[in-house]
Amino acid sequence: MSMRELTVLGTASQTPTRLRNHNGYVLRWDDEVILFDPGEGSQRQLLHTGITATDLTRICVTHFHGDHCLGLPGTIQRLSLDRVPHPVAVHFPAGGAEYFARLRHASSFHETAELAVEPVTADGQRITLGVGTLEARRLRHPIETYGYRLVEPDGCRMLPERLSAYGIGGPAVGKLLRAGYLDVGGRRVTRDEVSVVRPGQRFAFVMDTGLCDGVYALAEHADLLVIESTFLASEAALAAEVGHLTAGQAARVATESGVRTLVLTHFSQRYADPRRFHDEAREHFTGELVVAEDLTTVPVPPRRVASAG
Ligand SMILES: [Zn+2]
Repeated sequence: MSMRELTVLGTASQTPTRLRNHNGYVLRWDDEVILFDPGEGSQRQLLHTGITATDLTRICVTHFHGDHCLGLPGTIQRLSLDRVPHPVAVHFPAGGAEYFARLRHASSFHETAELAVEPVTADGQRITLGVGTLEARRLRHPIETYGYRLVEPDGCRMLPERLSAYGIGGPAVGKLLRAGYLDVGGRRVTRDEVSVVRPGQRFAFVMDTGLCDGVYALAEHADLLVIESTFLASEAALAAEVGHLTAGQAARVATESGVRTLVLTHFSQRYADPRRFHDEAREHFTGELVVAEDLTTVPVPPRRVASAG
């Protein structure tokens, strides 16, 4: 059974608080373990989760404000210290390449780990992974910012009882899968007759941004959406001015996009009671709702029910 879950390292925007570390998230998705937006202190937060530097396969940075990238120096140096044997891919807005170069070599260390540096140069850029497609979409923030989504293609699940009813077994199953049909006993059996669609799963990561097309493009039919909710509706004007979302806006995006599990995070330190984010979002979203806390894990919900092929 493959494992797909989000681990939250930190949930504070701008500055850490007594209860919240700077941003940071790890998505475990089968054999991909992706670190998103490591803010300050991410290396130590990782220690509390049981996820090691060696586990990481990829790092995605949305933009180069400190709460999203100041954990890069420590994390990158840790990859070398632990002699991580596999290359670790790194994605970030190409316009921030200078910031990345500085963070990567922020201090002296013996560099042994191999980073596969692949900056995002265009809206809609896609990277093909073994588990699906990683896509970057431009967001609306004062500096160049990209959100990411991971899209697993739909697959198909064979139905053994249908296969045996047609007398199909062994290598013939693979042949049918590849060709889409099989001629058996003077009759053509199509793949759709012996299988159902296995819906692909989607994960989306949206921050920091005001409302824009990119937000909706990323959130569309996400099984799990992690989205910034820096402010509440009482600060809606400020949010729009500085390129951030309110809890209510994030929740409406989730509803309009058919999101299943909604994770709110990246909270302004001005709000002491996290319940307020929950209550505001709940007015607009009826699905699974998580107001993120540091060092918690959120599972990707079970696959949507298969439909007849
Ligand atoms: Zn931020």
